Amino acid sequence: MLDWHRIETVLLDMDGTLLDLRFDSQFWLKHLPTHFAAHHGLEPTVAQARLEALFDVSRRKLEFYCLDWWSEQTGLDIVRLKDDLVHLIEYRRNAREFLAAVRQSGRRAVIVTNAHRASLDLKHRHTGIIDLVDAVESAHDHRLPKEEERFWSTVHQRLRFDPAKTLLVDDNIDALTAAEAFGIAHLLAVAEPDSGGERLESARYRALEDFALLQPIAPLAREAC
Ligand SMILES: [Mg+2]
Repeated sequence: MLDWHRIETVLLDMDGTLLDLRFDSQFWLKHLPTHFAAHHGLEPTVAQARLEALFDVSRRKLEFYCLDWWSEQTGLDIVRLKDDLVHLIEYRRNAREFLAAVRQSGRRAVIVTNAHRASLDLKHRHTGIIDLVDAVESAHDHRLPKEEERFWSTVHQRLRFDPAKTLLVDDNIDALTAAEAFGIAHLLAVAEPDSGGERLESARYRALEDFALLQPIAPLAREAC
């Protein structure tokens, strides 16, 4: 599926790519609406409509992923509420093994995520995911979402990867499009980001069914000095 001899750096999204999106889907589409309606004494349909309006104004912006913004807008402690569903946080099939294989091959594995730091901390507490990669780049640190080409430019300034020799795996098609516009050469979508949800269809990007299909990974050839 990939020519590993042409890849030096592996960038990976977290939610829906390395981790099952089921936690996030259940939280935003079920848990939050239920608590939002109860907290404000709203009919479920009214609560749903108000939340959808918030999704619409924030989509593709940093606010969409900012837990502080959501707490302000809803009057709820979003970070606390997420604790209710931690039993749903888990790796996608063969993701952990893939990370180990990437690093064992001599390549860098970097998480590149729109997730808020509090969300990242929560996921790490339940999976240890940060310990399995070389670096984490959060959109919130750059003040830009992954859907913007400028985000990839700022990440590039920090990581100094060769875009022509970099792979990005992400379930966010807009993020893949922005990364491609920046110049990242190897791009894969994710066929099934949410184990309990719909499949992701993309006409433009090949969708990865299972991380096992990207293995074995050829060792990174080091240039002689
Ligand atoms: Mg994602």
